[in-house]
Amino acid sequence: MASEKEAALAAVPTDSPTIFDKIINKEIPSKIVYEDDKVLAFRDIAPQAPTHILIIPKFKDGLTGLSKAEERHCEILGHLLYTAKLIAKQEGLDDGFRIVINDGPNGCQSVYHIHVHLLGGRQMNWPPG
Ligand code: ADP
Repeated sequence: MASEKEAALAAVPTDSPTIFDKIINKEIPSKIVYEDDKVLAFRDIAPQAPTHILIIPKFKDGLTGLSKAEERHCEILGHLLYTAKLIAKQEGLDDGFRIVINDGPNGCQSVYHIHVHLLGGRQMNWPPG
């Protein structure tokens, strides 16, 4: 299996549908932990921590990554982060957690539908790799 870095370097930045659209449309299974009319949160298929959840907007609206954010996206960006906080509480991450948004090849982004990683359940290290 390709490393995260190899997968990210091979990924082509695109506004086309991604695997996350299939998850939103329930065309492929996922372990959903939270859903409302704007966002969906599900467990990462390759967890990097005891708790590893992805939070995504249901409507991408051009937001392939954070670098593509426009002023109109401020509300959904805030909602993604607030949802991360709600899920951290729901998951019992009372000793802390980490939020990650990878952007572009250097940021190791492999899926071009903006997503917030919520990681917790273990001591994190700094700096990240
Ligand atoms: P990276 O692959 O380097 O972590 P991203 O920040 O773009 O880059 O993260 C995409 C994430 O999506 C990865 O953590 C990957 O494990 C996860 N993922 C890919 N396909 C699925 C899937 N079908 N269900 C759940 N998570 C998935």
